[in-house]
Amino acid sequence: MFDELSARFEDAVKGLRGENKISEDNVDIALKQVRRALLEADVSLSVVKQFVQEVRDKAIGAEVVRGVNPGQKFIEVVHQELVEVMGGANSPLADSTKKPSVILMAGLQGAGKTTAAAKLGLYLKDKGLKPLMVAADVYRPAAIDQLNTLGKQINVEVFSLGKESKPEDIAASGLKKAQEEDFDTLIVDTAGRLQIDEEMMNEMVRIRSAVDPDEVLLVVDSMIGQEAADLTRAFHEKVGITGAVLTKLDGDSRGGAALSIRKVSGQPIKFIGTGEKVEALQPFHPERMAGRILGMGDVLTLVEKAQKEVEIADAEQMQRKFQEATFDFSDFVKQMRLIKRMGSLGGLMKMIPGMNKIDDGMLKSGEDQLKRIEAMIGSMTNAEQTQPELLAAQPSRRKRVAFGSGHTPVEVDKVLADFQKMRGLMKQMSSGGGLPGMGGFPG
Ligand code: GDP
Repeated sequence: MFDELSARFEDAVKGLRGENKISEDNVDIALKQVRRALLEADVSLSVVKQFVQEVRDKAIGAEVVRGVNPGQKFIEVVHQELVEVMGGANSPLADSTKKPSVILMAGLQGAGKTTAAAKLGLYLKDKGLKPLMVAADVYRPAAIDQLNTLGKQINVEVFSLGKESKPEDIAASGLKKAQEEDFDTLIVDTAGRLQIDEEMMNEMVRIRSAVDPDEVLLVVDSMIGQEAADLTRAFHEKVGITGAVLTKLDGDSRGGAALSIRKVSGQPIKFIGTGEKVEALQPFHPERMAGRILGMGDVLTLVEKAQKEVEIADAEQMQRKFQEATFDFSDFVKQMRLIKRMGSLGGLMKMIPGMNKIDDGMLKSGEDQLKRIEAMIGSMTNAEQTQPELLAAQPSRRKRVAFGSGHTPVEVDKVLADFQKMRGLMKQMSSGGGLPGMGGFPG
C-alpha cells in the first residue's frame, strides 16, 4: 500500500507541474491533497493546519537522494510526520511501583468506557496480573450491571456500592479492598455524560484525588472524528490525562481522532478498541495508524480526481490542437504519457475488440518505435518540439536530433515525414468534425 501511495504522490508532485524536485511550487499542490485527505480522515482543522505547515517545512528542506523520486520522498515525509505526531512507537501502560496500580477510565457516555475497562481487565489478567474493576459510574443506569456481567465473563472481580454512593467514595473503597486483598491493578470505571460537562469534570477530579491514579485513560470513540480535539483538550485541562484508548476502530472511522488526541494533549494513545467483544483490544501502533489515515482511499481518490481534471483539461486542449492542426511534438509526448499511465500500449491494444489477435512481436515493435520517437523528441529543443517546421527546414537540426538520440538522420527524416503526414490527416478529419485517433502514426 505504501508503494502504491508513493506512486500516487509521485504523480501529484511530478505530474501536476512536470517538475522533478520538491520545491516551494509543487509541494503546495501535494500538500493540498494531504490536507484534504486528513480532513476527510476526520482530523480536526487546527491540527491539520499545524501538521501541513510542519510537513511543508520538512519536505522543502528534504534532500531527494538519487534513485528516490520526489513523490516517494514526499510521502515518506508525510508518513514519518504522522508517525511522529502520534508518538513514534507504542506506549505501554505506566510502570507503577505501587500495588495496586490504579487506572482511571474517563470519557463521554457511550465512548466505550465500561467495555474498555473490561477489555483492560482481561488484558492484565492475561499478563498474569490480578485486576479489580470498580463500578463508579452511578450516572448511567445500566453501567454497574454491565460491568458486573463483563466481569463474570472474563472472570475478573468487580467492586460496587450501588448507585446511591458518591463515585469518589466507591473508588476509595475499591482501592482499600484492592490493597487488603492483594490485587495488582485497580481499574475504575467512571460516569460519562453526553457531552463535556462541568459536573462530570469535577467528579473526575474528586475521584482522581481519592485514588491517585497512575493512569488516567481518556476513552474516545473514534467515530466522533474532529470533535476529538475539543474533547481531549477539555479533559486534559481539567483532569489531566496520561493516555487514551481509541475505540470503535472496527467501524469505518478513519482514525483521524488519533492525530488530534496526541497533538492536543501530548499524551499517547495506548490502546485501540476494535470490536464489542472483550478480546477486541490492541496496543496502539502509530505506524499502523499512519497507514490507515493515509490509506483510507481518500488520498488515492483525491489524487486520482486531481489527475483526471488535468487529463480532461489536457484532452480538451488536445482536441483544439487537432482541429487547428497545431498538434506538435511536445503534445505527442504528453499523449504518450497519458497512454502509459493507463498501462502498456500492448495491454491497451489488446482490450480493443478484434485486436486481441495482435501478436506480441508486433506490439513490441510498436512500443519500441514509440520509444525511439520519444528519444528523438527528447533531443529536440523546445522550439523544435513546438514548431516541427524548423526541423523540416534545416537539415543541420535534424542531424543534431539524430546524433543526440542515437539514430541515423534517415530515421529522423522518416519520423518527421510521418508526423507531418499525420498532421495533414488530422486537419482533414477535423474539418469533417470529430476527434481523430492517433492512428496511422507511427507506421
Ligand atoms: P460507556 O458509556 O463509555 O461505558 O460505553 P460502553 O462501554 O457501554 O459502550 C457503548 C457501546 O459501544 C456498547 O454498545 C459497546 O458494545 C460499544 N463498543 C465499545 N467499544 C467498542 C469497539 O471498540 N467497537 C465497537 N464496534 N463497539 C464498541
